[in-house]
This record gives sequence, structure tokens and C-alpha cells, in this order.
Amino acid sequence: MKHIPTVGFISLGCPKALVDSEKILTGLRTEGYAISSTYQDADIVVVNTCGFIDAAVEESLDSIGEAIKEHGRVIVTGCLGAREADIRARHPQVLQVTGAHAYEEVMAAVHTHLPPRHDPFVSLVPPQGVKLTPSHYAYLKISEGCNHRCTFCIIPSLRGDLVSRPLDDVLLEAEKLVAAGVKEILVVSQDTSAYGVDINYQAVNWRGQSVQTRFYELADKLGELGCWVRMHYVYPYPHVDKIIPLMAEGKLLPYLDIPFQHANNRLLKLMKRPAASQNNLERINAWRAICPEISLRSTFIVGFPGETEQEFTELLDFLTEARLDRVGCFAYSPVQGAVANTLPNAVPEEVKQERLARFMALQAEISAERLQQRVGRIETVLVDEVVAEGAVARSKADAPEIDGQVFIDGATHLNVGDFVKIEIEEADEHDLWGHLV
Ligand code: SF4
Repeated sequence: MKHIPTVGFISLGCPKALVDSEKILTGLRTEGYAISSTYQDADIVVVNTCGFIDAAVEESLDSIGEAIKEHGRVIVTGCLGAREADIRARHPQVLQVTGAHAYEEVMAAVHTHLPPRHDPFVSLVPPQGVKLTPSHYAYLKISEGCNHRCTFCIIPSLRGDLVSRPLDDVLLEAEKLVAAGVKEILVVSQDTSAYGVDINYQAVNWRGQSVQTRFYELADKLGELGCWVRMHYVYPYPHVDKIIPLMAEGKLLPYLDIPFQHANNRLLKLMKRPAASQNNLERINAWRAICPEISLRSTFIVGFPGETEQEFTELLDFLTEARLDRVGCFAYSPVQGAVANTLPNAVPEEVKQERLARFMALQAEISAERLQQRVGRIETVLVDEVVAEGAVARSKADAPEIDGQVFIDGATHLNVGDFVKIEIEEADEHDLWGHLV
């Protein structure tokens, strides 16, 4: 039998990078390449890298190093690809480097170093593409890049300004996913609420109707597909308020991943983020009044250059008031190339770590209390996994990978992708336990 050209693929980084990987893998499969998860079966290895923070850069460089050692023929793509000189300084043997979402370039690089086999019978790719997530949920990327210039972030310099996909294109993909059995769609981008602004909210024809390419319309139309729809990376623009009624109606999951980053106005300004934490508290209360079930996830940075103890305490006060459900927190890390690195009064590492620990301890109490309030409730959950002891599911309040899980002891007859009703019996600061009703 003729040898099938085989590509080994390593996917690092965030869900957006994962979507890029899926697109590349789909392209490769369409052209007849086989995909291998081991070095020895691969003819070439593609590493999709992440360059968001220094730890991710190191992980990416290490993975490239491992692929070179174990295999030798390596193509690098993804966010770190924008820093070709850094990659070549460490790993001069790399065959080719392409940048973030440079789909055509990666495909061309693979063609150069491993020509495809021409065989008209190999295009057996499922219409929804090759997915790296389990088949019952999928990430849907609606745009690339970002128009903001948050001073701690280098994503716009790596990925460029916002480029939105027209709404009909996004909805078609979503429909295919649902037809293929996907039960939950996770909307991702760098800035989900800015969707469409770069293409002047271009009107598209969708099922005989003219619909604008805009955040609200996206939410509304996805909400008609009959699956769970979860919104990630929602920048806190005022117009975000408009989608909360869709959550109350059950069209969207009552879940908002909305990074606030800090609560002190001076620091928010230095970060070039929208200020006014008082506003945010009022908005959170208003959202809860419209949709009492809403779960809020946010991320924050502590130890930003110049952050005083008093400003940090203001952040803790905000947390105490806001009672967010899930929170991620990072000690400020001076990513190479970020404008914030030039700001005066860097916070010493031990102070950053001490603030991070205080922040996390407070939020752990709040998260535990929020989860405790759900004990005794009946909720619908989605089964992610069935193991010997029972089923592992997620509630509407839990995004895969980043939030908690719901354990249903003994429910081994369930299937992955089932929606079931449970009564919640127990909670800790992260997860829930329940039984079927
Ligand atoms: S909104 Fe800010 S933090 Fe997010 S990608 Fe854009 S510049 Fe970076």
C-alpha cells in the first residue's frame, strides 16, 4: 500500500489556538494527510504555539525542543510564530515558522516539506471539520484579533486588529455542529462583544431575513439552534447588558465570562481598560435582577505596576461586593513587548504573590458560598464523561476545563452528551455532587 503522508500535531495554548489547530487539521485531512499522535508515525511535526505569557512561551519553546529531539522535522505556527527570531535563536533546526492564524502559510509549509498524496478518495472529512474537543461540545471562533490596546497584553501585536467572520458563515458552522451532535457551543474570540464592528455590522441574509453581524444578533440567532450556547471573553461594553434578557429567556446559557481585570479606576486607566467599578457593581446587580440564575466568571490582575496596598484592598472590596461565581487571577507578569512594562513602580514579586494568595483565599470563600446556595436545587446538567463510579457532568454555570464539575454517583447508565436533571446534594468551593431526579 502507498504510504500516506502523516503529520504529527501538537496543539498548545488557549481555546482560540485550539480552533486554529482544528482548522489546520481539517485542511490536512481534506488533502489526504493522515494525522498521528506519536512522533514515530509522523513524517513531519507541526507545533501550534502560544505566546501569551512568559510561562506559555517557555512551554512552547520546550515543546518545539522536544519535537526536534524526538523527531527532527518540525514546522512551528501560532502566536509565538510572530517571534521567529526568538524561536530560531533557541531552535535553529526548525524547518519553517509561520504566525498566528496563518492558515494558508502553514498549509503551504506542510506542502513544501511533505507533499500531499493525490488521491480523490481520501476526502472523508466530516462536514463539521475535525474537532479536538469531545463531540458533544465545540468551540466556535467568531473573530480574530483585537482593536483594544490593554497595556499588559501583546495579543494585538501577535494577532492583529479585529477581523470578524460574517454572521452567516458563523451560523452555518454552528448549524453543522449541531447537526453533527454537538450539544454545547462555546463562542470564543479575543473580544466577543466587539463582534462585527470591523465590518460595519455587515448585514447578511440568513434564512430569508436580513441580519446584522453584531454581538446581540449572534447571540439571538445561536439561541435558536436548540443547543447550549456559552459566551466567552465578553469585554465589558455597555451593550453587553442587552443579551442578559436572552439568558433569562433560556436562549443563551445564563453564564457570562467577562474579564474586569481590576476595580481601581486609576489602575484600570493605566491598563487602558474601561473604568468605573461602581458602574460594574450596579450592572452586576441589574443583570441578577433580570436573570437571577446568571453565573459570572471574571479574571483579574494583581501586582500591576504601581498598584498600592490601598488600591489592592479596593479590589478585595469589589470582590466582596460583587460575589462573582468563578474568578481567575494572575500576578502581573511582564510579557516581553507589553507597554505596561515601562510603567514605574513595579511591584516586588513577593508582594505580588502575597496579594495573589489573599485574593484567592477571599474568592475561594465566595465561590464556596455561591455553590452552597445551589444545594437542594434541581438543575439540568450535561454529561461529559462516564467512569466506573458514575457520571461526570457540568451545569449551566460550568464551562469545560476552566470551571467546576458535577458528580453523579452510580449513574453509569448515562451517555456522554446526555442532558439529565439532578438534585444538588453537596458542594465544595469548586464542584457539586448530586443525584438523578
Ligand atoms: S481586550 Fe485587551 S486583553 Fe483582551 S486581547 Fe484585546 S488587548 Fe488583549
